[in-house]
Amino acid sequence: ELMIEARAVEKWYPNGFQALRGASLTVRRGEVVVIMGPSGSGKSTFIRTFNALEDFQKGSITVDGIALSNDLRNIDAVRREVGMVFQQFNLFPHLSVLDNLTLAPVLVRKRPKAEVEQQAWALLERVGIAEQAGKYPGQLSGGQQQRVAIARALCMEPRILLFDEPTSALDPEMVREVLEVMQDLAADDITMVVVTHEVKFARHVAHRVVLMADGEVVEEAEPEVFFTNP
Ligand code: ADP
Ligand code: ADP
Repeated sequence: ELMIEARAVEKWYPNGFQALRGASLTVRRGEVVVIMGPSGSGKSTFIRTFNALEDFQKGSITVDGIALSNDLRNIDAVRREVGMVFQQFNLFPHLSVLDNLTLAPVLVRKRPKAEVEQQAWALLERVGIAEQAGKYPGQLSGGQQQRVAIARALCMEPRILLFDEPTSALDPEMVREVLEVMQDLAADDITMVVVTHEVKFARHVAHRVVLMADGEVVEEAEPEVFFTNP
């Protein structure tokens, strides 16, 4: 079952810069795909097209059977399927950790608050942060904030989770705790696409590693093959 099917995607930013030059990728259900490549090669732009955070002008993208198009139809539908974790956490600073998780499920999805809170506690437990549930994001370390961001994404029950350099803003000692949570998720059947420079994660957790350069996917292989190429 294909969860993401991106074909020959081309994107120009409003300033005329072409960031994607025919990028293609397919991701199967349950797969963990790591995207690597130099800074500026279009990795972030590409995954942001998968949940319609960026539009695109040519090519096609289908996410869990939903066709995205440049008229931005189906945005709500696709965002129900796809969660995203950003480099800079993007938590709501004025909400407690628990409220960061429950806000959208309750207000946007209209789910019962008691049910969502129960789920939120379980997710905070899972990412090892339940003791901080009443704190505000600014009171937490970067690694803790990123684990909250992951729990928040999971609380929306996405079928696909996108990670955009989730450890790049973290001090080295906090990188491991976030990667461990991601590795734990990878063992579930959630589909993950991860932009990262963490070679160990790519080697040991990814099912497939994809290399981007100049707005295109230039290589993809299983990690054992990818990392032994001359
Ligand atoms: P990566 O994630 O691989 O570092 P990005 O997708 O962030 O690459 O960026 C790809 C290219 O697009 C870069 O050259 C970047 O400067 C450019 N770019 C990103 N965002 C914009 C924007 N809003 N307007 C114009 N150019 C942009
Ligand atoms: P990333 O960590 O994804 O590589 P960047 O540092 O490239 O992020 O970009 C940070 C922000 O600046 C993004 O919102 C991106 O869209 C924007 N940006 C990047 N390059 C340009 C550019 N050349 N012109 C305008 N905006 C840009």
